[in-house]
Amino acid sequence: MTEQTWADAVNRDAIIDIASQLIAIPSPSGDERAVMEFVQRWCDDRGIRYQVVAKDPNRPNVIGSIEPSTDGPTVVMNGHLDTVPVSDPAAWQTSPFDPVVSDDGARLYGRGASDMKSSVAVMLHLMDIFKDSALRGRLQVHVVSDEEVGGQFGAVYLVNEIVAGSLPRPDYCLIGEKSDLKVRNAERGIVGFHVTILGRASHTATARATGINAIAKAAKAVLALDRDLDKFHPAVGKPVISINTIQAGVAHNVVPGECMFTIDRRLIPGETVASALAEITGALDHIAATDPDFRYDIVTDPMRDAIPASITPEDSPLVQALQQSIRDITETEPAFFVAWAGATDGRYYRQAGIDTAGYGPGGENAHGANEAVFIDDLVTQGRVWAATIARLLQAS
Ligand SMILES: [Zn+2]
Repeated sequence: MTEQTWADAVNRDAIIDIASQLIAIPSPSGDERAVMEFVQRWCDDRGIRYQVVAKDPNRPNVIGSIEPSTDGPTVVMNGHLDTVPVSDPAAWQTSPFDPVVSDDGARLYGRGASDMKSSVAVMLHLMDIFKDSALRGRLQVHVVSDEEVGGQFGAVYLVNEIVAGSLPRPDYCLIGEKSDLKVRNAERGIVGFHVTILGRASHTATARATGINAIAKAAKAVLALDRDLDKFHPAVGKPVISINTIQAGVAHNVVPGECMFTIDRRLIPGETVASALAEITGALDHIAATDPDFRYDIVTDPMRDAIPASITPEDSPLVQALQQSIRDITETEPAFFVAWAGATDGRYYRQAGIDTAGYGPGGENAHGANEAVFIDDLVTQGRVWAATIARLLQAS
């Protein structure tokens, strides 16, 4: 069979059916047990082998596995089944746990439709398609908990088990988060900084004589720092800097002697914590050069470890297979997802040295009311993934 034949086995109604069943089981982060039991039953009914891997039995992960031969690479499909809670039920036009297909057949509505139960439905459907095939290697699905709140019980736990040798090490990992049918072979990193502007407290009456207003000085710094950054990486677009909290002042009649603000800085491949820090201190030193009263301290966020940017190179067999499958199946040139929407569990696999790429559907209102996924995109995702898997595992 050719890659095209495997793609043609993808069935729209089967995907909608599985996605609807997943959406109908509420699974906010912390309460994933019932939806994971559904996945186990689904595998049982189809004779697909699986194991439950859990750091906390109430927050299990399910690893489904097809391994006709271990003489070849291991391909993992990763998706999470936890969702954010429904915070605004009155704003929904449908019931969030009663999945509905729009009259024109274009959208599937429900909590988790876009982020990301429908994409997991695609993965389960692909397990069904490949379950009796001859593969040179192993196809697995990592259905995980806990993505929305950090992954410590989900992908982080699985990757730690992989690194420890308790689970098979994947050669390639496909991520199904929303990407508008564009390739995500990299993710931005994150680093936080705390900046303290040092002024001099005084009575308001003597503000001009003895005071140095730390809020006024911080205003200069914020305006200098919070701006568009003139850099671009083809895989993830621009880096980002944003001043997101600020604290100062003790009383209405006291000139503030200190002002602290926090910087959230998103890194692109090639940038480091040190390079971002140098850029920020450069801008602050530039202010100080013309203002002798401008003084500051800066430290990296003591509460959060920095996360480096991660990238799987474009010449990886995984990215190559994905790109070629996009060309074959969609007859369009593959594009990178630079309209970046946030981090995924993919970074944990990439940080463990596993080639990882994302390719998922488009949708709307993820985390909000009237969340929906575009059904045509799910079918395209399924077809492109089927061709990619067939290519990497020489399916026959
Ligand atoms: Zn997600």
